[in-house]
Amino acid sequence: MNVQPVNKTPNFTSGLTGKILKDIKHINISQAEEDFAKIGVDADFDGKKFICTKFVLAANILADISGKYKLPFDFKPYAIRTFKKKDLIMPEDNALGFCNYDTKSVLKDEPPFIGMSIFINKNNNNILLSEFLNNYEKFTNWKSTSHFLGTTLHEWFHCIQQNLVYKQKGYEGNCPILRKEYYKENAKGLALTELLMNFPYIPEREKIQTLIGRYAASSNSLIEIFAELMAKITVESLNKNLQIVKNPLDNIPKDLPFSIKLKIEELLKV
Ligand SMILES: [Zn+2]
Repeated sequence: MNVQPVNKTPNFTSGLTGKILKDIKHINISQAEEDFAKIGVDADFDGKKFICTKFVLAANILADISGKYKLPFDFKPYAIRTFKKKDLIMPEDNALGFCNYDTKSVLKDEPPFIGMSIFINKNNNNILLSEFLNNYEKFTNWKSTSHFLGTTLHEWFHCIQQNLVYKQKGYEGNCPILRKEYYKENAKGLALTELLMNFPYIPEREKIQTLIGRYAASSNSLIEIFAELMAKITVESLNKNLQIVKNPLDNIPKDLPFSIKLKIEELLKV
């Protein structure tokens, strides 16, 4: 009889390896929060090891890309929080994660958060549930990637994108911190954001659906298309040890609608 060895590590398909599972187990959350504080990120992971690990990995990957390929991906979110639906002022925001583009009150127990903060659903801390959802949503072609860093990178790219919009167009809202940070006469970054979020015409939705999934294709938001695309091309540039081995922009699908490509290049100024 041929006895199969018992495989102690479940067969993860979303990029999780035995080494990463070990890293999750041993991560020092307060150290990670301190490290984030040093680079200006007010992070509170509420003891959630898997979520914390994903943010540490994403931070390193994005810093690596910006260093290696001179891409403007080194922007850090102002804050990172985890939430449950009951913690939210707007319970309809109960997604896997979201980010605020303007300063606003998000959590019942905390003061307003500066625009470009990230909020991650505590469900993302459950490794098996995340693995299941990531695969299910990829299988049903909802999301652009099943990689375990997909959601984290998606939200982080919202912040990166927003920072680029404000840098190019300024910020005309009420938040004094952002007004100072992105001062520009006749600023119109917020107005442009509204337009990008509700774009009058999204070309070739079928192609977008095939290339980066139904979620991106079903929205009128260039911001969602951008985040789905960037998360996908970034994880496709990683080897299995999560090292960046190629320029993510080389992974932009060749047949992505030209006008979308143009908008992205305009944003990244590449
Ligand atoms: Zn999004």
